[in-house]
Amino acid sequence: MARVYFQSLRLAIALVCLGASLILASHWFGLLPDVAAIQKDSRRRLSEAMAVNAAAHVRKNQWLDLRYASQTVVDRDGDLLSVGIRNNYGDLKVDAGHHAELWERAQKDGEGMDPVKVPITLNRRPWGYVELCFRAADQSWAGAIIEHPLLRQLAFFCILGTFGYTLFVGKVMKVFNTTQVVPERVRQALDTLAEGLLVLDEKARIVLANRAFADTVNVPGNVLVESCANDLPWTHPDSTPCTDFPWMSAIDESATLTEHILHLQIDQSNRRIFSVNAAPLGSGRVRRGALATFRDVTHIEEHRAELETMLSLLRSSRDEIEQKNKKLEILATQDALTGCLNRRAFFERFGRLWKREANAPSTLACIMIDNDHFKKVNDTYGHSVGDDVLREVARVLKQHHKDQGLVCRYGGEEFCVLLPGVDLPGAMQIAEATREAITEIRFDDPEELRLTASLGVSELRFGATDPQELINQADVALYAAKRAGRNCVMAFCERLAQSADELAEHNNRKGHEIPYQAVTALVSALSFRDPNTAEHSRRVADLCIRVATPLMDPLELYVMEIAALLHDVGKIGVPDEILLKPGELTEDEWKIMSRNDRIGIEIIESAFECEELTQLVQACHKQFRDQERYDDNLHGSQIPLGGRLLAICDSYDSMISDRVYRAGRSHDDAIAELRRCAGTQFDPELVEHFAQIVTRKPHEDGFINRNETAIQIGFQVERLATAVDEQDTDSLRTLSARLELYARSCNIVPIAQAADRIHHHASQTDIAWFDLLRDTNELLDLCRSTQSEILRQSLGQTQELARLEVEF
Ligand code: GH3
Ligand code: MG
Ligand code: MG
Repeated sequence: MARVYFQSLRLAIALVCLGASLILASHWFGLLPDVAAIQKDSRRRLSEAMAVNAAAHVRKNQWLDLRYASQTVVDRDGDLLSVGIRNNYGDLKVDAGHHAELWERAQKDGEGMDPVKVPITLNRRPWGYVELCFRAADQSWAGAIIEHPLLRQLAFFCILGTFGYTLFVGKVMKVFNTTQVVPERVRQALDTLAEGLLVLDEKARIVLANRAFADTVNVPGNVLVESCANDLPWTHPDSTPCTDFPWMSAIDESATLTEHILHLQIDQSNRRIFSVNAAPLGSGRVRRGALATFRDVTHIEEHRAELETMLSLLRSSRDEIEQKNKKLEILATQDALTGCLNRRAFFERFGRLWKREANAPSTLACIMIDNDHFKKVNDTYGHSVGDDVLREVARVLKQHHKDQGLVCRYGGEEFCVLLPGVDLPGAMQIAEATREAITEIRFDDPEELRLTASLGVSELRFGATDPQELINQADVALYAAKRAGRNCVMAFCERLAQSADELAEHNNRKGHEIPYQAVTALVSALSFRDPNTAEHSRRVADLCIRVATPLMDPLELYVMEIAALLHDVGKIGVPDEILLKPGELTEDEWKIMSRNDRIGIEIIESAFECEELTQLVQACHKQFRDQERYDDNLHGSQIPLGGRLLAICDSYDSMISDRVYRAGRSHDDAIAELRRCAGTQFDPELVEHFAQIVTRKPHEDGFINRNETAIQIGFQVERLATAVDEQDTDSLRTLSARLELYARSCNIVPIAQAADRIHHHASQTDIAWFDLLRDTNELLDLCRSTQSEILRQSLGQTQELARLEVEF
């Protein structure tokens, strides 16, 4: 602004100089009247008129009239100071305006006065004079200027002209600034841009707004001009009013700013989002303003905000699923009937505890509990009362050891309690209290039912070298208690060890050397690679335990359970095309599968060096009468019992499970098929045993399957959500394909469909993330509700759920 007025002033001075020169020139050419000459002439005329008038009065001796007339003239003429009439003798006959005094002063130094003397003649003879004292012109230069009309005129013109011209030129320049600073051609070119554009001066006033900007803010471009860009209702993305504008940084700091997001509230219902770029105008230190462009990103930003909302929804759902998975995993560690730890979970925890004890040896005791004559309970009152009894005994055990110790349902009616930090006398006391508590159990129906149990106790002092040996010692003590007449507690001791052939038998076996951690690691690897197979293996292990419990001792059961868990571990190496193939396998593909079965056996052989375990897994892949498939020549009843059972359980579970290319058979069909193949593929006696046991309690399997399925689906959905979050499209494709296959095999159609849609999105070259996120969130919702439903059904009581929640 100041710059504009400074320039205007310079121009105004030039104009004033020109005007003054013209005035002086007109004076020089005589175009202006000479005011001094006119004044002189009028004084002369007045003096002469006074002289003529005085002569007339003197002739008639009218002195009074003469004085009166003279005084009147002095009073009227501002320039005339005094008038005097003096005769030739020097007598002052008339004095108007203190003439005598003024005239004397004028004669002496003439300061400030201009004396004029005009003679009076009477009858052609000089009589005297009229003396007039006029005011003299100011002699100082200032006075001269003030007095001199031309100079006065020039001074007036210069002062007011400078002022007036400056204002006028300034106004004109402003008009030029705003209208002519951007040439029309450039203006038209800028109007063709799709992006909004503002040219701003150094005060951020709008010099030019192109058509795109004017249209966006819905204000004509010429109305925007001259207004300050900062005064528009800009806000930050968080809706706080904007104070640091990118164009101000461009103007003040000569900085170029790009992609600065600003919101502009156009009216109540219309808010636009702009990506602003601002660059300074002018070179070096000269700041002339800034050029700002405005890309309307409202649509993109709203889309992005929506994506972010969906992504945060996805993250929170994923976290929830993770939590629920943990709860379901806890449930999976429990025995379905009694709620005690199942054997698998018990061994896992025992293994960890043992490792800790090995590093810092302390005390650890183990109690084996076996209900006395439990078979009689079943025979007398039926299996459902038998189940109630087991539940009640389990409740008493959990109650007794809730603060300290792990309670496991070790076998049918056998429980094992592990007591860390308890020595032998302490364990004996606890065992005795437990025995008493069991004898005090009462039922409403049958009222007369009384229970007793035999208990065996062992402790680290007897030199057990691994968890299984500690359990075996307690087991030996338990059998001693049975032999001693039941309903009593016996502690293990060296004497028992020497006399008991059971212990010798236990020790001769290799099973106790199988580290459960290694089993867990392999099962986890299989779960990660192929969740379907891992779940199938778990189901087979559960079936094996149910079927083999009446036929084997705990150690044999343990080895068999591990064999069942690992019998398909070779599938870790089968390529995805075969593993996920939605149809029957070709001959070549079957060869690859069998090769991987052999690799699985080798993994088990080298990882555990347990001949019994390797034989079981080998036998599982062998037909009852088959001598060709493997190199050894075991067949028929030479195949270990566990192997024969494993083959039946494995085939049964495969038959009843759905596959993508076929639906699972019913239980009856599967049993019929087992019977059809009895004698060739399976041991006929065991098939009958299997049919009898599995038919008895189908609901338990149902529970285990659903729980495992929920965990598997939860786990896969969790990984899939992470892949979406990380935009890892390769993993996304693989995971969604697997989930679809898995959900179809479990007959959970909505999840399979959602996974299929995600797979479809992930397979596109240009992925529609919005749709993909929407479908993923749908999938997460489905998964959450399935998990919640299963948790609700499994736990039954909210109290139990609360307990699980507290544990996290
Ligand atoms: P002992 O005093 O020698 O221990 O005699 P017992 O009858 O308790 O022992 P035995 O091992 O001969 O029989 C155990 C029975 O427990 C056989 C089996 O049917 C039954 N059983 C195993 N699991 C369950 C189950 O889950 N529910 C019911 N009701 N019975 C079961
Ligand atoms: Mg018993
Ligand atoms: Mg028993």
